[in-house]
Parts: sequence; structure tokens; C-alpha cells
Amino acid sequence: MTETIVIAELSKGEISITTNELVSAANLLGTNCTIVVPCADSTIADKAGKISGVSKVIAAKSTVFSNYDAAAWAEAIDSVAPAGIVVTAASAQSKDLAARLAARRSISVIQDVIAIEGGNLSTPIYSGKAIQNVSVSGNSVISVRANVFAPAEDSGNCEVQVIDTTGNVTTALKEMVQRASERLDVSEANIIISGGRGMGTPANFTHLEEIADKLGAAVGASRAAVDTWDEIPHSMQVGQTGKTVNPNLYIAVGISGAIQHLAGMRSSKYIVAINKDADAPIFQHADYGIVATWEDALPVLSSSLANLMA
Ligand SMILES: Cc1cc2nc3c(=O)[nH]c(=O)nc-3n(C[C@H](O)[C@H](O)[C@H](O)COP(=O)(O)OP(=O)(O)OC[C@H]3O[C@@H](n4cnc5c(N)ncnc54)[C@H](O)[C@@H]3O)c2cc1C
Repeated sequence: MTETIVIAELSKGEISITTNELVSAANLLGTNCTIVVPCADSTIADKAGKISGVSKVIAAKSTVFSNYDAAAWAEAIDSVAPAGIVVTAASAQSKDLAARLAARRSISVIQDVIAIEGGNLSTPIYSGKAIQNVSVSGNSVISVRANVFAPAEDSGNCEVQVIDTTGNVTTALKEMVQRASERLDVSEANIIISGGRGMGTPANFTHLEEIADKLGAAVGASRAAVDTWDEIPHSMQVGQTGKTVNPNLYIAVGISGAIQHLAGMRSSKYIVAINKDADAPIFQHADYGIVATWEDALPVLSSSLANLMA
């Protein structure tokens, strides 16, 4: 079987749990999993050494990894990653990187994989309305959707090899605009509560945040909410032109359920919809539907959760 190389997924400068999921996926695709950790400070790679089912960890150390530059990252990673099946996360940045790596190596790229069975990969197409099955032979780059594969455990003990690398940075970062929200990112969350235009004002998103805090959830939004209110950042947008999410539980509040929104969340395990319009399309896709205004429904949900946790 072919060797596999996982490119560690980072979140706030640390290796995220998605990396453990990528290792599980990689071990379904081939053998001898190597993790490559893009880093400016190689100590962050120690966490990768603890992931089970890994034969080698390479801390690819370079200042280019201080900020994302697609071409430079691909060049720096390409020079240290061995040949084989490369596995990345399917976040916006990592899909970009996956395509760059594939182009550099002249191998195929398969994006947003949601199932792997004996060399056959499944990926959603047409905004999730159809699933395509792809069979791969030889080396390729595969991006894998978060929350699909069970994360490999942290009971390994693999040494970390630090390799200095570099790439040609083609863009200059002039200013870093601070993220509007330091909350959990929707693409990695197991539970998401999203608000739409039906929330009325951006200030009403605090009601969603209150419930999110009780559930350990991320807060998402529809495009109408993001486009209408400056206070709701694009990073929260779920859908065709936002983020694709795959949580266990997705709670849609005041969201009509347009096809472009569904494209980003229809693969959620359980969908709960709260909408005052019984004919809202979201109810056709919801496992549980509550026909009510959020003003009525959310306080009940909030106090029920408080009782459960008491
Ligand atoms: C090319 C393209 C790409 C797009 N990409 C995306 C995307 O990535 N993500 C996305 O979300 N959209 C996307 N859209 C926009 C999409 O078509 C819809 O316009 C958008 O999803 C609607 O958002 P919404 O459901 O919040 O708003 P609306 O359609 O205005 O729905 C608001 C809902 O709230 C309900 N409501 C109102 N008041 C209350 C209340 N008090 N309590 C409970 N319910 C209430 C209403 O009954 C209604 O169903 C895209 C569109 C295009 C053309």
C-alpha cells in the first residue's frame, strides 16, 4: 500500500483535533502515516507525536508559516513531505493548499472527501445534491471534511524530526485585521447554532451565543445575516459561498433554508429548525422542527438546558 502524509491542521497556532481525524482517514488510504507540521516554532509539533497510528512526524520549520501564503506554504511543504497520498483538511485554506501541492507534484486532487471505502472516495457535488464516487490509484492529494472520521487517539509516542525549509513568499501582509469573533470556528464544531435574517438585529445573536456557551457550540449565520449586518463576520457564514459544516447537531434559527444555505449544512447528523413560518423550506430537511418565533423558543431552550445542567 502507498505511504500517506498528513498535513497537520492548525487552529490558533496549535495542532487541532482535525489532525487526529486526518490520521484516521490516512490509515484507511495507505500505510506508514507521516505527519508534516507546518510551523515557525517546532514545539507545536510535539502534540502530533502523541497521535496513535503515526510512524513519523516532521516539523517543517520556516518563517513562511507565520502567515498564510499559498504558494510559499506549498513550496515549503513539498520540499519536506515524502511522496505518497497527501491528506489535508477541507478547510478553505487547506483546500487551497491541497490544490497547490497537487499542481506542484503533477498528481490529482480530490477535495472534501466524506467517505473512504477500499480505495473508493466519496465527495459531495452540485452543492451536496449528489455524491460522486472516485477511485484513486497512485499518489494524489485528498482533502477530508472535518467531523467525518473518528479522531485517532492521543496514545502514541513518535519522535519529532525538525527540518528547516523555506518557500518564496509572493504576497506581503500589510495589516492583520483581528477576527471579529474569538469563538469556536463553525468548520470544526460538533454543535452549531446559526442565526438568519429572522433574528431581526445583530444584537439578538447574543441569545444564540448564550445557548452556544451552554452547549459548547459554535455560532454560525446565513448569508443574509452576514450581508445585512456588519457585526456578523463572513467567517460565521455557512453555505455555498461560506463554510461547509458537518456537526452532530445543527440548530437553524430564523433561517428559511435556501438551497445555498443547505449546501453548507445538509450533511449535519441532526438538524433542528426554529422558524415562525411552518412552510419554511428548512423544515423539509429538519429532523426536529419548532414552529415558533425565536423570541418564544430560545428562552425555553435556554432554561431547559440550564435545568439539565443543574
Ligand atoms: C450565488 C449565491 C450564493 C449564496 N450563498 C449562500 C451561503 O453560502 N449561505 C447562505 O446562507 N445563503 C447563501 N445565499 C443566499 C440564499 O439564497 C438566501 O438568500 C439566504 O440563505 C437567506 O438567508 P435567511 O434564511 O437568513 O433569510 P430569509 O430568507 O430572509 O429568511 C428568514 C427566515 O426567518 C424567519 N423568521 C423571521 N422572523 C422570525 C422570528 N422572529 N422567529 C423565527 N423565525 C423568524 C422567516 O420565516 C424566514 O424563514 C446565496 C445566494 C446566491 C445567489
